[in-house]
Amino acid sequence: MSDRVETLEFQAEARQLLQLMVHSIYSNKDVFLRELISNASDALDKLRLESMVDKDLAVDTADLHIEIEVDKDARTLTVRDNGIGMSRDEVVGLIGTIAKSGTAELLRKLRESKDAGASQELIGQFGVGFYATFMVADKVTLLTRRAGQSGGTRWESTGEGTYSVEAVDEAPQGTSVTLHLKPVDTEDNLHDYTAEWTIREIVKRYSDFIAWPIRMTVERPGEDGATSHETQTLNSMKALWARSRDEVDEAEYQEFYKHVSHDWADPLETIHMRGEGTFEYEALLFLPSHAPLDLFSPQGRRGVQLYVKRVFIMDECDALMPNYLRFVKGVVDAHDLSLNISREILQQDRQIRAVRRRLVKKVLATLKEMSAESYRTFWAEFGAVVKEGLLEDPDNTEALLDLVRVASTHDPAELTTLRDYVARMKDGQSEIYLATGESRSTIENSPHLEAFRAKGYEVLILTDPVDEVWVERVGQYDGKTLRSVAKGQVDLETDEEKAQAEAERKDYAELLTWLSGALADSVKEVRLSSRLTTSPACVVGDAHDMTPTLEKMYRAMGQEVPRVKRILELNPGHPLVTGLRKAHEQGADTEALTETAELLYGMALLAEGGELADPSRFTRILADRLARTL
Ligand code: ADP
Ligand code: MG
Repeated sequence: MSDRVETLEFQAEARQLLQLMVHSIYSNKDVFLRELISNASDALDKLRLESMVDKDLAVDTADLHIEIEVDKDARTLTVRDNGIGMSRDEVVGLIGTIAKSGTAELLRKLRESKDAGASQELIGQFGVGFYATFMVADKVTLLTRRAGQSGGTRWESTGEGTYSVEAVDEAPQGTSVTLHLKPVDTEDNLHDYTAEWTIREIVKRYSDFIAWPIRMTVERPGEDGATSHETQTLNSMKALWARSRDEVDEAEYQEFYKHVSHDWADPLETIHMRGEGTFEYEALLFLPSHAPLDLFSPQGRRGVQLYVKRVFIMDECDALMPNYLRFVKGVVDAHDLSLNISREILQQDRQIRAVRRRLVKKVLATLKEMSAESYRTFWAEFGAVVKEGLLEDPDNTEALLDLVRVASTHDPAELTTLRDYVARMKDGQSEIYLATGESRSTIENSPHLEAFRAKGYEVLILTDPVDEVWVERVGQYDGKTLRSVAKGQVDLETDEEKAQAEAERKDYAELLTWLSGALADSVKEVRLSSRLTTSPACVVGDAHDMTPTLEKMYRAMGQEVPRVKRILELNPGHPLVTGLRKAHEQGADTEALTETAELLYGMALLAEGGELADPSRFTRILADRLARTL
């Protein structure tokens, strides 16, 4: 071994993923070839782009292609490209580590799931790329030279924890990956990957649309019994998006999706469209069937690639899709753009903005037309992201509100549309009632809902963090105010009940004044409630006050927000409240009264799932009181 060889360790997460691949938890082993070809194709795209941008780059772009070579005797398979290649540091960074966010999370889930099917599915959703080679090979050698550099790098590993890297003087431009194949084992789905027919089939099935030629030299029996060799191109190279919909079958769309998305699962929906007129483009977009692990991570991979007349221009083209549709994957081929357009110019470009508007409309229309079952899947995976659109995209508020699905007290098993809620509204009901909070159960058990439940009003239950914000921003649906049950005064009473409440208010006037003073540090007002039936008290906000959850959210984002004092409402029908009134009238000890007031307030906070300012004091008072009852 020369002293230029270094042995390095895989990053911990990479090591664990490799273990899973070496011991093959994934049954469809053929996909390793798709992954290698997909990487080679990306490398060729990148080289063409770089050579267009940097005219001095010393590279040969005359015959960019992918080549597959087998050696039956040595049982090796090599996939070679003359693309961008990798420097030594890139090899170590890209192949030795996994940069995908969510890896740790995935590994945790895999460890927890005992069932093999579920593990496979998780790996499939994650997609392991290059590491898939270790399903079929017990050793992998990679030789690569970065475009523009003179020396190359040889990388080798058995997938068992370490790999070696070695600087080499001579290496062809691009990358070749050689797999030392495991023995054929059809029971374990390990096919003979040196067989021409097997390779042909896999390429056709998974990689036919790849825009670069995938070549293989095959043996043909010659006339005099000797064998001759001929090089064939295995793929048709047709850009799927440029074909019309009826020329493409479902399987082709699916494989193309897997190439652009790096997902191993099939897409939920395919959108194939064409824009004609002043600005021509073709778009082939997909809605994934599951959310990626990095959906809410700022580093998460975003969706759409930009091509100009079949030439790849950029990945993750955010000018084409708003942030709230960041999960949409696919390709947009715009005919009239310059090939060396930059990201900054794209953001400004009026035509690109017009295309983006069309794409957004089309995606929203597709969502609207989806079957109930597909849409249920979609909403469970991406609903929380789509709702961000209600903040980001005021032009499409109407369409977005029609897409929203929310839990409701109407039917615990089904989400409802706002339209259906409105259709079920009671006679005389003019507002849409909703409750926000951290979980369905806290909301359902919160005192705020009592009167609504008692009087048979349906309440929407909103539990995503973004809900607080969009409800505030949007304000109403179909002319009806979106009204939080934890805010403002509620007006659910009959005239008779109102008259009774008025009388009670007089009886309670003194107590309420006293309480407002005693609890002045915590609440801005104490009043009688018309929303309680069984609980003694609850805390509510003014109609336009920020909710506690929202306050917490802003603080978590590092924003300074004033602490909003809320209102304590008491249930005049509850013995604790009537008892307190009597005690106050009879001039009971102020300290004892104050403690009762604190307990009432604390209980109201706990009941809505809130936090106490001083839990130990609350517990002490409560324990003292309980002790006295024994
Ligand atoms: P992904 O393709 O999803 O990024 P992979 O595991 O397939 O993940 O590949 C990891 C990275 O290694 C790629 O993003 C690319 O930067 C680099 N890479 C892999 N194969 C090649 C290749 N043939 N040429 C150049 N770079 C490559
Ligand atoms: Mg890849």
